[in-house]
Amino acid sequence: MSHPHAAIAALEQDVVALQWSQLDRRHLSYPDIAPIVDELAQHEGLRVATIGDSYLGTPIKRLSIGQGPLVVLAWTQMHGDEPTATAAVLDWLRLLLERTPASLPGDWQELITLHVIPMLNPDGAAQNTRQNAQGIDINRDALVQQSPEGRLLWQQVQDLQPTVAFNLHDQNPYYAVGDSAEPATIAFLAPAYHPDKHVDSARLQAKQLIAHMRQILSHWLPQGTARYDDSYSARSFGDTIAGTGASTILIESGAHRDDPHRQVARRLNVIALQTALEALLSDVHRGQTLADYYGIPANTADGFCDIKLTQVTVSDGTHEPFQTDICICRNKGSQSLYVDFIGDARGVHGFVEHDARQLTLPGLVKVGEVAEPLLRLLGLSRENSNG
Ligand SMILES: [Zn+2]
Repeated sequence: MSHPHAAIAALEQDVVALQWSQLDRRHLSYPDIAPIVDELAQHEGLRVATIGDSYLGTPIKRLSIGQGPLVVLAWTQMHGDEPTATAAVLDWLRLLLERTPASLPGDWQELITLHVIPMLNPDGAAQNTRQNAQGIDINRDALVQQSPEGRLLWQQVQDLQPTVAFNLHDQNPYYAVGDSAEPATIAFLAPAYHPDKHVDSARLQAKQLIAHMRQILSHWLPQGTARYDDSYSARSFGDTIAGTGASTILIESGAHRDDPHRQVARRLNVIALQTALEALLSDVHRGQTLADYYGIPANTADGFCDIKLTQVTVSDGTHEPFQTDICICRNKGSQSLYVDFIGDARGVHGFVEHDARQLTLPGLVKVGEVAEPLLRLLGLSRENSNG
């Protein structure tokens, strides 16, 4: 169903038409994006700079369009195993270069300078790890800056002094929107820059932009957007950069049913980023209030598991049989299934749910154990809409 606003409906059509089809994958590493960066660099309007190297020597590039006074900086894949926004920003740049949305003023490049760093952590991407090659979580390195990638990001922020900063991540698939049975496909945060969570004009603008993006996305995700917890974290980059006066926005790409490569979140990231870019030129977001921002339901951790067995009977042959729910999740790397929780799992939703009241498991199970044998014993397949 297309968006009721013709301009947004047209935007979505163009976003889909211009997606890099080769990026429809579960993981992305530097060799996946290097040819695309080269192809984008053929456009006259794009400047590509190598801003430095990762710990293992892979170049980290910055792609820039425009020369206006309003500076927007976006970076992706600070965590190597979080690739969704990398695909999204490369789609976005292609859209801006090849089919500039009609809703952007013709002189937008005189008003805005857009800088994008796709894949800040190429070593982690190569190893499919959150951390960089030193084993450091770059997003806990904002203060001590022992990682070359963290130092590079901070240097970019110092040099460019962005007005708006987009910190783009993936979250684990088990976040729910509030206490609903909706996965949080997109979660937003305007991070705090102080433990008391003050709201200065920059943070107010971040919240207004988020409320505006969320309103646009609600057409496709009527219940699928959430608001991330804003506890202050001094060692995280989002919070530190928010302290520089940049309107800082975290976007977490999350799960959607039947979408293992997170292509829904990818597409909606592009629409959200483009929506924010246009808002910065029209100030349409200034009509949003703090109540609009806080009206976004909370991003709830552990609201989902991959497979939920409800009220299975467990009998070890000697004790009285007992009934329990069992939650099964998927290892991020290997994709193998394991037992995540045993007990009363009300409030936890399964991407696949089995009413197991008629089933008996002949033996105890333990949290952490491989789940395939128990599914076989119960005669259940490992089918999973999200896997
Ligand atoms: Zn992350």
